[in-house]
Amino acid sequence: MKITIVGAGAMGSLFGGLLSESGNEVYLLDIWKEHIETINKKGLWIEGLSGDRFIKIKAVTEPKEIGGTSDLIIIFVKSYHTESAAKNISLLVGKSTSILTLQNGLGNFEILSNVFGLEKVIAGTTSYGATMLCPGRVRHAGIGPTAIGELNGKITTRVEKIAQILTQAGIKTETSDNVMGLVWSKLLINVGINALGVLIRVKNGELIKGKYSPKLQAALVEEAIEVANKKGIKLVHQDMIKEVASICEETSANLNSMLQDVLKKKRTEIDFINGAIVREGNKLNLSIPVNQVITDLIKAVEEAYEKQI
Ligand code: NAD
Repeated sequence: MKITIVGAGAMGSLFGGLLSESGNEVYLLDIWKEHIETINKKGLWIEGLSGDRFIKIKAVTEPKEIGGTSDLIIIFVKSYHTESAAKNISLLVGKSTSILTLQNGLGNFEILSNVFGLEKVIAGTTSYGATMLCPGRVRHAGIGPTAIGELNGKITTRVEKIAQILTQAGIKTETSDNVMGLVWSKLLINVGINALGVLIRVKNGELIKGKYSPKLQAALVEEAIEVANKKGIKLVHQDMIKEVASICEETSANLNSMLQDVLKKKRTEIDFINGAIVREGNKLNLSIPVNQVITDLIKAVEEAYEKQI
């Protein structure tokens, strides 16, 4: 299968590398020139859970260098870059191209559907994890379930085929008839962990200790559950507050991705996580005070990067 990965950072490089090793024709597309040049010169270095090795893979900074359309495009830019990335890749999208988003947060599916049409886009979630080490090098840091599906819940041949291609690459993937339930359930986990981890500056395990953090976590998730319920989303866990706490326990030694971004003074995905709950809640005339405050606090942190003491 001819596959283009749009956004070949930590996750894009990992997925691209694995898909290339299993025999697909894979192109990594990224605007980060130094990273792309390093991959073309030396190969892509992947280390960690799937082994340490160089992978020979084609990497480009411009869609026109790929030549023709792709069968599958996987979007792995940060959510705030989805729109600009999508508008740049029309050359790669043909009649039978499928576009898959496995990004975190809410809104990516909608942005991609607006640009390419609802029928082209497939969504999903992944518990795989990766870390960018330096240009040309990534660490495979997490393994877990991946699931993909059509928005209308139909298990189509293309979804089955893509799940099979991912599974053959070692990324065990299931098909789902409730993909928005999956996306929202993952969103709620990020709602309860990421921004709170930034503000308290702790690894995930600390968030469920003490008196105040668990209370704040529950309040953030409770608001999000109310929004999900009002929207008719079928969350995949009965008790999402308990689920978020148990994820904190399981990943107790992890620094969440938003905390990693803030430590590097990078822009966060807050608008697509807690900020998205506020937006969706407000559309339903719900007041979402806890997520609103935490969204503003993270934005204040981002604004003050250059002034922090
Ligand atoms: P990353 O910052 O490592 O990679 C994003 C890449 O996109 C960068 O290399 C950047 O140069 C590139 N990019 C930006 N604009 C572009 C454009 N217009 N065209 C092409 N490339 C462009 O991010 P990541 O950690 O790989 O995360 C990607 C997405 O996956 C996020 O939504 C994240 O929340 C989600 N996710 C990450 C992990 C993880 O472990 N890292 C796990 C699950 C989900």
